[in-house]
Amino acid sequence: GGAAPSTDGNNFDYVKFVQENVNKDNIRENLRRYSSEPRLAGTPLDEKLAKTIEKEWRENGLEEVHLATYEVLLSFPNKSNPNVVQILNGSNAVQFESQKFEKPLTDHENNSNVVPPFNGHSPSGNVKGDVVYVNYGRIEDFEYVANNLSLNITGKIVIARYGKIFRGDKVKNAERFSAIAVILYSDPQDYNMDVNVTNTYPNSWWLPPTGIQRGTVGVDGDPQTPLYPSTSYAHRLSDMETDLLLPRIPSQPIGYGDAQEILSIMGGPDAPEDWQGGLNFTYRIGPGFLDQNNSTVRVIVNNNNEVRPVHNVIGYIKGKEEPDRYVLLGNHHDAWVFGAVDPLSGSAALTEITRVFGLMLSKGHRPRRTVVFCSWDAEEYGLVGSVEWVEDHLKVLHQRGVALLNLDYAAVSNYSLAVGTSPLLQDALYAAAKKVPSPDPSVGETLYDLWTARPIKKMKDPSPDPYVTYSLGSGSDMAAFYQRAGVPSVDMWMTYNEIEMPLSSYPLYHSSHETFFAYDTFIDPGFSATNTITQFMAILACDLACTELLPMDVQRYSAAVSNFHQTLINSFGDKWQKQNVNIEAFDSSVQNFTAATKAFQDILDADKETILKSPLDLRRINDQLMLLERAFLNPEGLPGRPSQKHVMFAPSQFDSYVDNSFPGIMDTMYEIDHGDEGKWEQLKQQVFIATHIIQSAASTLEDIG
Ligand code: GLU
Ligand code: CA
Ligand code: ZN
Ligand code: ZN
Repeated sequence: GGAAPSTDGNNFDYVKFVQENVNKDNIRENLRRYSSEPRLAGTPLDEKLAKTIEKEWRENGLEEVHLATYEVLLSFPNKSNPNVVQILNGSNAVQFESQKFEKPLTDHENNSNVVPPFNGHSPSGNVKGDVVYVNYGRIEDFEYVANNLSLNITGKIVIARYGKIFRGDKVKNAERFSAIAVILYSDPQDYNMDVNVTNTYPNSWWLPPTGIQRGTVGVDGDPQTPLYPSTSYAHRLSDMETDLLLPRIPSQPIGYGDAQEILSIMGGPDAPEDWQGGLNFTYRIGPGFLDQNNSTVRVIVNNNNEVRPVHNVIGYIKGKEEPDRYVLLGNHHDAWVFGAVDPLSGSAALTEITRVFGLMLSKGHRPRRTVVFCSWDAEEYGLVGSVEWVEDHLKVLHQRGVALLNLDYAAVSNYSLAVGTSPLLQDALYAAAKKVPSPDPSVGETLYDLWTARPIKKMKDPSPDPYVTYSLGSGSDMAAFYQRAGVPSVDMWMTYNEIEMPLSSYPLYHSSHETFFAYDTFIDPGFSATNTITQFMAILACDLACTELLPMDVQRYSAAVSNFHQTLINSFGDKWQKQNVNIEAFDSSVQNFTAATKAFQDILDADKETILKSPLDLRRINDQLMLLERAFLNPEGLPGRPSQKHVMFAPSQFDSYVDNSFPGIMDTMYEIDHGDEGKWEQLKQQVFIATHIIQSAASTLEDIG
């Protein structure tokens, strides 16, 4: 597909307009205001921010700005009975206690509304036992302890370091192995790589020993209303039914200063080389401690689940020619604490985009399609605001959703661009990046040049294209749009050099130290990376909302399907042959889809001028493009996961931060490879479903008849 032009059908140069009008001082001031107070979902200060955003978007010229409010189940710790991890001696006397509150390190953090460290939707509990170190708490880590070391985890408290996978999956794994509680901590190897350990926040962006990552361990969406919206008339599951969906064992996060007290005295075998973290002693597996005095660990969690209202802010700029086609831009506004990085740097950017779009409108430039601005609430509790809204508007999204651009944080650092995307939008991203000036002119003229020069992942096959991943996962609010509603989605942010710094996230993530000061001083001083991503999102939105022909490339999709298919055949082809899996039909569906995308693109290239002149032809072609992603939805969902409708992509069962491709096949093969030979019939059915869906997708691109 060709690069999108830089003007709309009326020769308005929106690229120039965006470049000239996005103002980084505005973004900086937005961020200062938004992050001035803690913004925990379901609290008055979070509601206040929602109303501020609503007011500002209205002032900026958006149309029909409103709050989309849902009553949902959130979770809060008890300030007067704080969560704690203790070491007890043989007579149960407390020898050591973890900090009950995160230590404020700047004046600004000394605020009574800072929520104490806890894991959202962890149940309460008070349990005592021997502790076992399980590295990152991945399934393979648990298997190593249980199988290679033959250590029984049943009845034990596990201590796992944060990182590599979604924390909720660590707790799930601990439950699978019958542990009774989980202690989560941030290891300096993953969150403070500085050799000089005293050089931590507020002197740098590195996590101090007292810093603590909060975060949910629950499910996506309001656990009381799976699959359906939490409207005023909703039927909600009983407390008992709801509890079945949530974690059953308590978990609690602590800092590495406190974790050291536990880890340094543990007994049992030495942990393997790659399980050794950054603390200055040999990590051991346990169970229990070196001493023979029957010391144990106690985990006390006093969280409460509470139904509270959460408020999404929704505002529109109605499209001129195609008002019933929606380009959606989203970010969340709830934060664990001050949220200056996650998510308010994104909120600050999004509000600046509303200002620029409002200005455009006031100068008479209305986009061809409707642009929908969304500020989600309760993302931190499992994408709750966006999932409920998608469930509420599913039919409209199926019929009208062109694309969803998600900006959780604008920048976690200022080195390069990170992107997760549907293959359909990959070329639109490249085209837009070429229209954005580089934040660092010494590295290249455009964002595209910077992105090319600074890959953030080691690439297996050297590729002429800048790095993107198709693995959107469910780490943020694009998840329901993509995996449930089939709206082509993008998630983007500016990041650090992940090759040189293999961190698990930016170090201050979900701590009370995510302050305006931290963002302004360490994350993006001068706001040039923030300015760049804001322009990028605005220009991409214009390309999608203003150009006559949608900038979507179907051949990227078939190339992706074909690659993932080849990977499956390479890994499982021999096994499948022996079981008479219908590989032939699967192969030919991929070939047919590839041929259909090529034929479609050839016609588009050859007849472009004629198509552009015929509104009906244009609309037909645009609909085929828009609906291709939807063709990959299976209304029945994945086996055991009815909310996951996308046959090509779904969050991995073992790390919901990343997507598996062909998830139905991958999940079933995992079970087979773990000894469940009874699953071959299910595997054949999943290959059949994939074959049928790919074939169906091909047919949507073919001529009528
Ligand atoms: N972004 C949040 C987190 O990583 C929520 C992700 C989710 O619940 O899927 O904690
Ligand atoms: Ca729901
Ligand atoms: Zn976020
Ligand atoms: Zn977050």
